[in-house]
Amino acid sequence: MSRLFWGGVDCTELARRFGTPLYVFDETVIRDRCAEVKRDFLSRWPDTGAYYASKAFQTQAMIRLVAQEGLGLDVVSMGELVAALKANFPPEHIELHGNAKSDEELSLALDAGVGRIIVDSLMELDVLANMAEKRGKIAPVLLRVTPGVDAHTHAYIATGQTGSKFGLPLEGELLLRAVRFAMEHPNIDLLGLHFHVGSQLFDPGDHVQSVVRVVEAAARLRDDVPGFELRELNLGGGFGAKANPAEPHVPVALFTDAMMNTLTQECERHGMKRPYASTEAGRWFVSEAGITIYRVESIKALPGITYIAVDGGMADNPRVPLYGAVYDAVAVEDADAPAYDWGGSKVSIVGKCCESGDVLIEDAKLPSVKRGDLIALYNTGAYTFSMASNYNRLGRPAVVLAGNGNAELIVERQTPEDLLRGELIPARLRAEEKARI
Ligand SMILES: *Cc1c(COP(=O)(O)O)cnc(C)c1O
Repeated sequence: MSRLFWGGVDCTELARRFGTPLYVFDETVIRDRCAEVKRDFLSRWPDTGAYYASKAFQTQAMIRLVAQEGLGLDVVSMGELVAALKANFPPEHIELHGNAKSDEELSLALDAGVGRIIVDSLMELDVLANMAEKRGKIAPVLLRVTPGVDAHTHAYIATGQTGSKFGLPLEGELLLRAVRFAMEHPNIDLLGLHFHVGSQLFDPGDHVQSVVRVVEAAARLRDDVPGFELRELNLGGGFGAKANPAEPHVPVALFTDAMMNTLTQECERHGMKRPYASTEAGRWFVSEAGITIYRVESIKALPGITYIAVDGGMADNPRVPLYGAVYDAVAVEDADAPAYDWGGSKVSIVGKCCESGDVLIEDAKLPSVKRGDLIALYNTGAYTFSMASNYNRLGRPAVVLAGNGNAELIVERQTPEDLLRGELIPARLRAEEKARI
């Protein structure tokens, strides 16, 4: 019997110390990813930058880690921006995204000196230009475009196709009008364009095709709009993460080399100088670094299917009901045990929420477990904590950062009392209970 260790720490011990469900991140894995980006992308290709898309997993500790590693930070809302500023992240290395930015979000970005504002629509450009003018500032802008590539991934995480709610299509009037407007407005510094083709991709084909289309469009814009030059191109993120530690790691260079080679070639072809190029992966940095530890609460064998129900579920990880994410599980106290034949029936690991869609693994391979045992899901570092809800008044699990044999709490578990904070009772409902009929 060998117990599961994560970040060099015994997971059985972690569950005892911090309770379950529990998110555990291996700091070494995150730092290795940052080092890989610096070595295989930033050092290999001059005039490049890399951001971490913090919506995948954002906490004060994580923001500090990214700052230490010298990467940029991508935020998408007031909450994420305030968190970044609170963690003292250098604002000039922050970029702000979003297809529905509020006045408050845009003005904070301008006032704080955020390095890039990725503008999603003509309307937003107009609002931002007015705000910048009033403040006597110049907004550093990239325009988000939809490259018209239908990424090979789940429809809910594909973003680059024509008709997407994100960005401006390369074809048609909208982009041309936006570029003209930006070039003519003294308070907008239009640095270039941005695309993000989709998420959880394992083949660079969609990214490469997007580069070809975007450079072609940029060349057209250069010819049509006086003064416009593609000085900067953000290539987005979307690099995939493997389901369990036995599968080979997806190297960043698989995407960045392919895109940079194509970018160099296409720019030459159109007689353009190669722009400064940046990426903004989220999942790839953190997904494989994270596991979630659960305790088994109930096992129910029905004809043809056995349900193993745990003490968490869609509240701490909605990715399965949301877009069919696939996970692998392991028995924490016996990590090498072979899969058990549950009487030939299918085994589903389900959560404790009051929804039939509350599934963690539809068809799991798992050794024999009993109530009270611990299981862990691999590859849960991205879009789990950040997507967690309090459905059924479940408190959000604690987050532990482990590495080199040490483990520290970086987010406390929410208690039932925490969940009541902010709730108010109007006076008329405070009256003593009347006699029941
Ligand atoms: C979500 C998102 C990313 C990061 O996507 P990952 O799949 O986590 O790498 C990057 N850019 C934009 C615009 C996004 O919306």
